[in-house]
Amino acid sequence: MKEVIMAKYGEIALKGLNKSTFEDILVKNIKRRLKPLGEFEYTRRQSTIYIEPIGEFDLDPAVKRLCTVFGIGAVQRCAVYEKDMDVIKAKCPEYLRDTLEAASTFKVEAKRSDKSFPLKTPDIQVELGDALLDAFPHLKVDVHEPQVTVFCEIRDKGAYVSAGRTAGAGGIPVGSSGKALLLLSGGIDSPVAAYMMAKRGLIVDGIHFQSPPYTSERALMKVQTLCEKLTAYCGDIKLYCVPFTEIQEALRDNCPEEYFTVIMRRLMMKIANRTAESYGYGALVTGESIGQVASQTLRAIQCTDAAAKFPVFRPVIGMDKKEITDIARKIDTFETSVLPYEDCCTVFTPKHPKTRPVLSEIEKAESAFDFQPLINEAVENMTVYRYKVGE
Ligand code: ATP
Ligand code: MG
Repeated sequence: MKEVIMAKYGEIALKGLNKSTFEDILVKNIKRRLKPLGEFEYTRRQSTIYIEPIGEFDLDPAVKRLCTVFGIGAVQRCAVYEKDMDVIKAKCPEYLRDTLEAASTFKVEAKRSDKSFPLKTPDIQVELGDALLDAFPHLKVDVHEPQVTVFCEIRDKGAYVSAGRTAGAGGIPVGSSGKALLLLSGGIDSPVAAYMMAKRGLIVDGIHFQSPPYTSERALMKVQTLCEKLTAYCGDIKLYCVPFTEIQEALRDNCPEEYFTVIMRRLMMKIANRTAESYGYGALVTGESIGQVASQTLRAIQCTDAAAKFPVFRPVIGMDKKEITDIARKIDTFETSVLPYEDCCTVFTPKHPKTRPVLSEIEKAESAFDFQPLINEAVENMTVYRYKVGE
């Protein structure tokens, strides 16, 4: 029996003339994700990428990996038969045996994109449904809430039967929208921000500020683990690690305490600007959510943005902690994010941060010290780590 995986397009099915550019990137991303599992042959037709294993091996891990590739709307593992209703009826009970024996209700959903096939869609559903009821007499048909939906699609090159469909990651393929630099802390929010921007087709690399000895080696390892986990969705990730200790100490020694957080955030932005300029990033990303903490009030964000030279995307800005946490669990970053290691943001935290800072005052306070030489030094001493998909 021949078995293939169908990766059906999500949003890119709606693209016009530039559709093939998106498809090319999607196929490339899929190939990279599946490479460690074995060899596959790829063909694309009818807004679907057909992925056929070369040789025999379990396809479940491949399905699992495909479900984290942006650009795919649905993933289906299917048996492929010749387009002959008798053949389909004779062969597919065996293919569906494990799934249907474990279920008590089912329905058949047919689709006939090859209009030369002699049976119409409702007839295919009835005929195949009857054949399955004969083969598995314990089953009942439930068209509203079946435990299993058997899909039977008559397409140009064959009849494809599957015991269900898994939702894909949606979005558009990573690499189709340019690249952005994410301010990545070890917290819950910024990894979720990475996921959300990658979903819109951006390559997302991270920049992390560390302040040893105030922050530990384990805090850095935590961020590195987050990058590894994010590759499942984001593809390859670069992480720029910036030594931030001297800047924070200078800030502590020279600026009013109530402004620490906002000025620190602005200094982070200035270093991110430099990095983005040097390495060709078109936007910055943060995990800020409005009102979550003192540095995330409207005024504070205004002061932070004034230091940024690029558009700053904040994809979780309107989400509450529960919504963000739900995504963090889904993408498997939550457990790592909640490990209790210090972030540089919690070093020298003011007791009473200003929640309504005024930009002119912040700029004045910031100009009390010339941070530029320290910024230059931090940029020069950055360490770059690379995380590859599938490793
Ligand atoms: P997160 O859960 O992502 O850490 P948070 O709720 O802890 O966010 P803050 O600590 O105020 O919020 O940080 C807000 C944003 O600033 C983070 O989402 C991240 O984008 C950026 N940020 C904070 N600390 C760092 C850091 N050490 N390195 C890089 N970016 C950081
Ligand atoms: Mg944080």
